[in-house]
Amino acid sequence: MTDAAPDKHDPTTVREATWAVHGGNRPDPGSGALRTPLVMANSYLLPDDPASIDWSGTDSLIYTRNGAVNQQALERKLAAMEGGDAATVFATGVAALHAVFFTLLRAGDHVVVSDITYEAVWRLFSELLPERYGIEATFVDASDPDLVAAAIRPTTRLVHVETIANPTTRVADIAALAGIAHEHGALLSVDSTFTPPPVFRPLAAGADLVIHSLTKYINGHGDAMGGAVIGSAELVSRIRGDALVDVGGAISPFNAWLILRGSVTLPLRLRQHISSAVRVAAHLDADPRVAFVAYPGLPSHPQHDLASRQFGTIGPGAMLAFVLDGDSDLQDRFVNRLQVITSAVSLGHDESLIVHVGPDGRGGAEHYPAEFRRFGHLRLSVGLEDPDDLIADIDQALDHALPPVR
Ligand SMILES: *Cc1c(COP(=O)(O)O)cnc(C)c1O
Repeated sequence: MTDAAPDKHDPTTVREATWAVHGGNRPDPGSGALRTPLVMANSYLLPDDPASIDWSGTDSLIYTRNGAVNQQALERKLAAMEGGDAATVFATGVAALHAVFFTLLRAGDHVVVSDITYEAVWRLFSELLPERYGIEATFVDASDPDLVAAAIRPTTRLVHVETIANPTTRVADIAALAGIAHEHGALLSVDSTFTPPPVFRPLAAGADLVIHSLTKYINGHGDAMGGAVIGSAELVSRIRGDALVDVGGAISPFNAWLILRGSVTLPLRLRQHISSAVRVAAHLDADPRVAFVAYPGLPSHPQHDLASRQFGTIGPGAMLAFVLDGDSDLQDRFVNRLQVITSAVSLGHDESLIVHVGPDGRGGAEHYPAEFRRFGHLRLSVGLEDPDDLIADIDQALDHALPPVR
């Protein structure tokens, strides 16, 4: 905060919720419309002398794959939101992740990756990039900075982690990992999809690049896919030039417009998501029919202290994993009986989503803690319904699946 007049477009002069409403948006100079209009154009008028144009350029508006009105509005907002110089948006979160790896890595380079990581990242680094492009990867438990340091080689160019690993909820200490990466001349990229601002800002903790699946909390309504990379102007412009313009995973202007609209309520939504998740996690944890609950907001979580320190007072997100005390069929009976909570993949939507993942259901599952590997786990994204309805729904489905213990 400064004493100067507040600028509602500048997150350093107004508070989070104020800026969330106004960030990125600009009234349309042509019509005076208050919201940045949806511009469904592939191409923009060229200057009088088009011969001078840089066809791969991204500075002026030429062609929607290089940049366009709604993409730029969303990028302005995301860059300021994460405290980065620049952002570039893609069609999906996976396109954004791939864009980082494609731009920064070449044959013979080495990467240290968390051994619990998003499915597509697991396959990219266990199979596709090593086999096709000669990029080497070492998977380590990224919640232990010493293991990350020990895995670094002279050829390590990148360390890649998730703030809270999906699905084990292990927490990565981003400041410690940034120190290790930089000491060895490597970059740190952080998938912060589970912890968007105001929960956490990885760049301020020393990360070089932040990646989001916009499909999740930032859009928040389960009706559009998108991805983003945020960081320094130099890194983002390389990623945009190499992986957006010349690989081509551009987001639709309509989806960029929807995501900018959804992001208006991000701080408000996250507060509700998280306060409900804290209640649901505690409720599950207290029920003897639940074998384990993994949620960094529970005092029993092995990294509760790190999570409390790193993610601040709003709390450590709203994603949790648990399993009922019983076999795989029992988990399915429980899920199928739920009436308010929906069985589906994805997360960060307005509606609560649950998925039963089998013990070997995903790439890298051999690295999961033992309790995840017996009957699989249930991954729950706590939504915006009334938390009392969520708890009542869980209770009735539990009573159906397993007789109550009294
Ligand atoms: C969903 C997700 C992704 C992939 O994003 P898409 O938009 O589905 O491509 C990447 N990382 C995390 C942590 C996710 O939850």
